[in-house]
Amino acid sequence: MALSYVSNHPDSPWNVYLMQVDRVVPYLGKLSRWAETLKRPKRTLIVDIPIEMDDGTIGHFEGFRSQHSLTRGPGKGGVRYHPDVTLEEVMALAAWMTIKNAAVALPYGGAKGGIRVDPKKLSQKELEKMTRRYTSEIGIIIGPQQDIPAPDVNTNAQIMAWMMDTYSMNVGATATGVVTGKPIHLGGSLGRVKATGRGVFVTGREAARRLGLKLDGAKVAVQGLGNVGGSAAELFGQAGGKVVAAQDHTGSIFNANGFDLSELMPHVKATGGVGGFKGAEPMDDEAFWDVSCDILIPAALEGQITADRAKRIKAKLVLEGANGPTNPAADDILADRGVLVVPDVICNAGGVTVSYFEWVQDFSSFFWSEDEINVRLDKIMVDALKKIWDTADRHKITLRTATFAVACERILMAREERGLYP
Ligand code: NAD
Repeated sequence: MALSYVSNHPDSPWNVYLMQVDRVVPYLGKLSRWAETLKRPKRTLIVDIPIEMDDGTIGHFEGFRSQHSLTRGPGKGGVRYHPDVTLEEVMALAAWMTIKNAAVALPYGGAKGGIRVDPKKLSQKELEKMTRRYTSEIGIIIGPQQDIPAPDVNTNAQIMAWMMDTYSMNVGATATGVVTGKPIHLGGSLGRVKATGRGVFVTGREAARRLGLKLDGAKVAVQGLGNVGGSAAELFGQAGGKVVAAQDHTGSIFNANGFDLSELMPHVKATGGVGGFKGAEPMDDEAFWDVSCDILIPAALEGQITADRAKRIKAKLVLEGANGPTNPAADDILADRGVLVVPDVICNAGGVTVSYFEWVQDFSSFFWSEDEINVRLDKIMVDALKKIWDTADRHKITLRTATFAVACERILMAREERGLYP
């Protein structure tokens, strides 16, 4: 029976996730008797976050932490600050983390957190207070062995440092392993900031090789030039690609010859977005989806590639830097049109992979060089993608369904081996 607390909107992130699970059930054999386990989060905490605002009023914020699965290890997944965050969105993002962590064979379950807030409207002091109170509220379910948060949309190393400090104060010991994505001198890992974008690049490089698409001269369009999209754009640029179109919350820009990323990225950092960049033409937001390009990287929010946009996309390869950017109907249209989609659950797994490296380094208090990290990341991503590709070829299914098949088999095998308690 459907969960009583979720909507029945077919395109809600949670219902999209359920549909993706349904598609994989036929490939699970005897393990399919456990499939229902994947369709409900293990536990979800909803918290009120009251703080005194700078003007003396009391602000209340709605916060969530959802642990979708702890079957293969502690929960792991980011914390998002965004005005549109909902319980269902956080549940879906947590579930996708379970799939992602299993797809790259990390010893984690899946979790995600979020606060319904526009952090740009808070002062630095208010942001710190909100983060600390949220951490205290979810402190009863997080911990280095229980559930390890990390950055996501609008959260960063500073926010992770406040989370680590708050948790540490509450337990009476410095617990660096409670969050990842921390500043380097507080137990953070080299290479973590750019890891998700690097993973997008590595999976894109492998997919392009299989398609016979040369990266040198390839035209790339990116939605979201934040942590993920910005790093991926830079790496494609270094490989000879031309980033010809970009869109973010400040607008859309185009340059047929490719942007000068050494000018665009500082502009984005200084002004908060691509809007007003002198080295490009402004473009209508909807026209972004019609741009002639070889590779499209949605790296902003979910639900961006709708059925209508999927019919117009010109790219041969879509690399899902964001979580859940493609609706199921759009997914089918892209597959029918022969557009290859490297799905979020493998494409953007580079971030959590280096988060795993960070967690391991924190436990051993022995830190690796950036080269070691990048080489290990590359190998994990390439090996994971190869297994997924082989599964897709064997069953003649999309890479998304194949990623779910590989991941769900690992999760449900662990479920069966552990058995049910009591
Ligand atoms: P970020 O906050 O650094 O960047 C988000 C980007 O999205 C910004 O460029 C912003 O302008 C853009 N954006 C916001 N609203 C938009 C809108 N309405 N239209 C167009 N663009 C919009 O966030 P991030 O960490 O780069 O995360 C981006 C995506 O990648 C999210 O889906 C996130 O869940 C996913 N992701 C992030 C990581 C990570 O390590 N940071 C890991 C895996 C997946």
